[in-house]
Amino acid sequence: MDCGLIGRKLGHSFSPKIHSLLGNYPYRLIPLEPEEVGDFLRKGEFHGLNVTIPYKKTVMEYCAELTPAARRIGSVNTILRRSDGTLLGDNTDYDGFLYLLKSAGARVEGRKALVLGSGGASLTVRAVLSELGAREVVTISRSGENNYQNLDRHADAQIIVNATPVGMYPNNGVSPVDLDQFPQCDGVFDLIYNPSKTQLLLQAQRRGLIWGNGLGMLVAQAKAASERFQGKKLPDELVADITAKLEWETKNILLIGMPGCGKTTIGKALAQKLGRPLADVDEKIIEEAGCSIPHIFATEGEEGFRVREHRALAQIAKESGQVISAGGGIVTRPENRDPMEENSVVVWLHRDLDKLPTDGRPVSQSVPREELYRRRVPLYEAMAQVTVDNNGTVEDTVDEIIRRVMG
Ligand code: NAP
Repeated sequence: MDCGLIGRKLGHSFSPKIHSLLGNYPYRLIPLEPEEVGDFLRKGEFHGLNVTIPYKKTVMEYCAELTPAARRIGSVNTILRRSDGTLLGDNTDYDGFLYLLKSAGARVEGRKALVLGSGGASLTVRAVLSELGAREVVTISRSGENNYQNLDRHADAQIIVNATPVGMYPNNGVSPVDLDQFPQCDGVFDLIYNPSKTQLLLQAQRRGLIWGNGLGMLVAQAKAASERFQGKKLPDELVADITAKLEWETKNILLIGMPGCGKTTIGKALAQKLGRPLADVDEKIIEEAGCSIPHIFATEGEEGFRVREHRALAQIAKESGQVISAGGGIVTRPENRDPMEENSVVVWLHRDLDKLPTDGRPVSQSVPREELYRRRVPLYEAMAQVTVDNNGTVEDTVDEIIRRVMG
């Protein structure tokens, strides 16, 4: 049984990995240029396919039959070759988005929803919201009647779904809308899963709203497709299990703490134990500046250093699956919060004051150690999701971080 994913650019797709966890069948990435799609569908040796950007509509004309979901939505993301050789077009993004809403605990019935973007995914999102009984579903499109210049018309929106690529890697740190404009909104969903929390989702989380990213949707649509490919029902728990596995593999572990608390030593040992790359924000600053940190402080002052630090952090933290060691003062700048939280679990390495050195660190040389500790502790506390004591052995600290981060 040969299956795969067709699309134009398939570089970093999670689909082969997800399908390998759903069943024992070959699943290939098949990048196609537009002029190749027709031939491939007519002659290709495959049993089942997933379809992604930009071919979800293109493939419809090659399907002898469409399922009711694919017909209603007007887009196909799953194709099955039937025993007579003809193709059945289906849409399992529908199952995926339904899962996203249900797993987040969204309330849809009787409520007003805004869907940002008018592409293929937007069609599916609108169909699901309508079928769940939304009172009104409004599409916001850059060129449409309802657009980003007249969002005030819809200040009463209660649910917002981002079905645009705005905020997606590598263009992290931007948001299609500002949630301050929607005081009645209590649920925000983003189809993007890289970064794990887009700026839109970070804002939703900080406001205490119900929110969810697109990773569970991706896995749920793959599970529904795999059921079609394999001709059997798969356990529902697989979706949450595979999503958690991918979340763990892609999450960064970002170490913060006082100068000299052991971030570099623990970072190296943790990275080695987990088989992950180690990224050091200070090293990146030195590499980009071409000089030492004391030299940057001497020539550009602390302000100049912090600007460089933010830039280095943003570049490092948008990548996934790393251990990151950050400088002691990274928590002093509010603008560092988004990059620290978008893909990472932030771990405060706590080391007793009398065990901290004072040498060679520009800020700790200029401010008494006790004073720096007193000022910084509340910032570490506020920023960290996990606090780990680092007064014992390296091995104990590493094991404790892994235990706490994995939950
Ligand atoms: P698409 O067909 O290319 O549509 C995206 C829509 O976003 C466009 O039609 C456009 O709508 C809007 N848009 C594009 N660039 C924009 C920009 N710079 N600013 C504002 N709006 C912009 O893509 P799609 O298949 O619908 O996918 C949309 C997003 O959902 C992508 O990020 C994709 O990765 C994600 N997705 C995730 C899953 C999942 O399983 N998690 C599944 C499908 C898609 P207007 O021109 O009307 O503004």
